[in-house]
Amino acid sequence: MVKKDRRERKGRDTKEGKFDEIKKDLERQKAALLAESGEIITGGLNPGVENFPDMTDQASAETDQNFTLRLREREQKLLKKIDEALERITDGTFGICESCGGGISLKRLEARPVTTLCIECKTRQEADEKIRES
Ligand SMILES: [Zn+2]
Repeated sequence: MVKKDRRERKGRDTKEGKFDEIKKDLERQKAALLAESGEIITGGLNPGVENFPDMTDQASAETDQNFTLRLREREQKLLKKIDEALERITDGTFGICESCGGGISLKRLEARPVTTLCIECKTRQEADEKIRES
């Protein structure tokens, strides 16, 4: 456990202060996602679907379900990433590239807090993916 007795009292300009802001942002995003998926489960996305008569009702209900599943998959992935980022903030590994162990720039973290790679590694990874795809 690292004690925070070296805390600089400069507030939001320190890295720690920024991480606090990012953490709050992530928590807000997570709450919004959870609220949204709750709405989907209770049918909030399509309140008018019950007014459709029999045949079309069936078809559109199935389409809605597929759509909901796809959406939920994407949300769950994002939720997982947010949780992992929050964990990294807690255990002090946030902002460290998991590929090269170097620091990720604050600017990049603010733009994309769920990232686990520094810009150099990310660029290299994307280049690799492009080669694999072609
Ligand atoms: Zn890296």
